Amino acid sequence: MTELSPDFLTAAQNLLGPRGWSMAAEELAKVSSPWRGTYKGETPFLAKPATTEETAALVRLCNEHGVAITPQGGNTGLVDAGTPHGEICVSMQRMNAVRALDAFNNSLVIEAGAPLVVAQQAADDAQRLFPLSLGSEGTATIGGLISTNAGGVAVLRYGMMRDLILGLEVVLPNGDIWNGLSGLRKNNTGYDLKHLFAGAEGTLGIITAATLKLFPKVQRASAWVTCTTASDVVKLLAMVRDHAGDTVTSFEIIPANAVAMVQADVPDTRDPLPSDLPWRVLIEVSMSRAEHARDVLEGALASAYESELVQDAVIAESVAQAESFWHIRETIPLSKRAYGTALNQDISVPVSRIPEFIDACNAAVLEKVPSAEFVIFGHVGDGNLHYSVCEPASAKRPVLRGQDEAIFRIIYDQVMSFDGSISAEHGVGRLKRDELERIRPKAATEMMRAIKHALDPNKIMNPGRVINS
Ligand SMILES: Cc1cc2nc3c(=O)[nH]c(=O)nc-3n(C[C@H](O)[C@H](O)[C@H](O)COP(=O)(O)OP(=O)(O)OC[C@H]3O[C@@H](n4cnc5c(N)ncnc54)[C@H](O)[C@@H]3O)c2cc1C
Repeated sequence: MTELSPDFLTAAQNLLGPRGWSMAAEELAKVSSPWRGTYKGETPFLAKPATTEETAALVRLCNEHGVAITPQGGNTGLVDAGTPHGEICVSMQRMNAVRALDAFNNSLVIEAGAPLVVAQQAADDAQRLFPLSLGSEGTATIGGLISTNAGGVAVLRYGMMRDLILGLEVVLPNGDIWNGLSGLRKNNTGYDLKHLFAGAEGTLGIITAATLKLFPKVQRASAWVTCTTASDVVKLLAMVRDHAGDTVTSFEIIPANAVAMVQADVPDTRDPLPSDLPWRVLIEVSMSRAEHARDVLEGALASAYESELVQDAVIAESVAQAESFWHIRETIPLSKRAYGTALNQDISVPVSRIPEFIDACNAAVLEKVPSAEFVIFGHVGDGNLHYSVCEPASAKRPVLRGQDEAIFRIIYDQVMSFDGSISAEHGVGRLKRDELERIRPKAATEMMRAIKHALDPNKIMNPGRVINS
């Protein structure tokens, strides 16, 4: 763990003020372990700056003293990027204000420590939509979502977090403040610097505020359908998009065994369409009027039914029924953990190759572990699968535990052979850093390293995440 000199500590405590720091063991332990307790880190000091200027003064001090920093938002990240491992932890949660909303420019300026729900609510209050939506939205912060370039359930229509930012305010590793909080949609003046920080996982600076894109509010129509094969699911996506164009907001694949896991874990869960078929799809179309969205969705499903791509379908009659569909989808990760061991990957391949990938990857894993079970679900519309190799807790001879590395290597090799990515939306962190170094083209790694060295020559910003620098 970093040894902090008395000079550094006194200066940091003075500039942050009594509410702006902590060395209490309980608080340090809380920020050193993420919500699932999956990783265990440590930190000697928690900083809680309240303003951009305080953040800048702290980072300048850290740079002068060679003290490494891990920026932290809601600590919901899944790749061990935001948990300190000896660095001081800079929590952005006190910087959570909505600074400005311009309804005619469709833009929102918000501080980095605000949870996603605050941005969604501010937009809603102004009759606008901020479309990013994911399971951790009550806790995950704007700064963390940008830094991990988060995805979620509406990427198909609105893109990832990177696509939803118009500008950023960032404290650079030398303590300078870059005010790039532009609300412009067109600004062709050289390198688009904000994109450097999207997905950088805190390795290039601390984001203190962002200008986000807002959209017109929409009403949704949601359907739950059953399909026979993954190939039918992919064809269904194309057919629904032919009918509904860009109004298709979500297209989530859910296997039958995942629905059964949720039902076993959450006993009052009702399967919307009980069936022996292996696949379900949750489809959402959104338009300015609910009845139009429903008409479009009905039309698309009627064609799909005629073409035998869909075996059965139900369109939600109420918001509550649509939420019950989503509840099943969002509960899968927790129910999988209750079921037993699950080795999880977040990968992507070209949408058209998903069926072939599933067959090839399952076969490769089964060669190593013949008893393996699979739960494959997620954002199929984005080519993004949450691919889990599972084993029930009741297994008489458990074989999966301790096999993570070997099984992940099999999955990664399969993903690469399908021109895919081994991290679709969760990022790199410490978890996938070395594997990416192995498979990423050398030129790409060198460019990334050059950018890191140029902005952070003293390597104080979240060292060891994303790339070995
Ligand atoms: C139940 C659940 C469901 C999820 N579903 C999805 C999903 O569907 N799609 C998806 O993409 N992700 C999903 N995630 C992952 C997660 O919510 C994201 O990674 C989130 O973007 C992290 O935000 P955070 O504020 O918690 O950041 P943290 O976990 O605190 O930090 C994440 C990274 O960002 C850096 N960071 C944080 N704040 C700043 C800042 N202000 N400036 C610079 N760097 C910063 C940290 O150093 C770290 O590298 C899910 C997580 C959970 C727990």
